[in-house]
Amino acid sequence: MKKDKCNADKMAESGFIFIGNKSEPDAVKCFFCNKGLDGWDPTDDPWQEHIKHSPKCSFAKLQKSQDNMKMKEFLAIKDELMEKIIESYIEDKANKIGEFENYEKIIMSKINKS
Ligand SMILES: [Zn+2]
Repeated sequence: MKKDKCNADKMAESGFIFIGNKSEPDAVKCFFCNKGLDGWDPTDDPWQEHIKHSPKCSFAKLQKSQDNMKMKEFLAIKDELMEKIIESYIEDKANKIGEFENYEKIIMSKINKS
C-alpha cells in the first residue's frame, strides 16, 4: 500500500509546526513564513501545498528538509529567518506597550471623571 504523502513527518520536514486545537485539529503553520494551513487531505503533498499557499517563503522555495539542506542554502535563508524572529519580537513588545497605553488612558479617564 502506498504511504500517504500527508503525515506528521512530511509536514514537519516541509517546515510546518502543529498549532491545532479542537475546532482545527490539523492546523499547522510554517516556522519560517508563519503561513497557517488546515483542512489537509491524505493525498496532499505538504511541500506542494506550502509553496502554493506561500510562494514567497524562502524555506518552501528550497523544497528541502533541514536535514538535507546544504550549509550555503542554510546561510542564505538564516539572516531572513533572524530578521523575521526579531521583527516578530518587536511587534509583540509594541503590542504590549500599546495595550499598556490603552489601560493607562482608560484609568486616567476614570480618574479625571471622579
Ligand atoms: Zn513557509
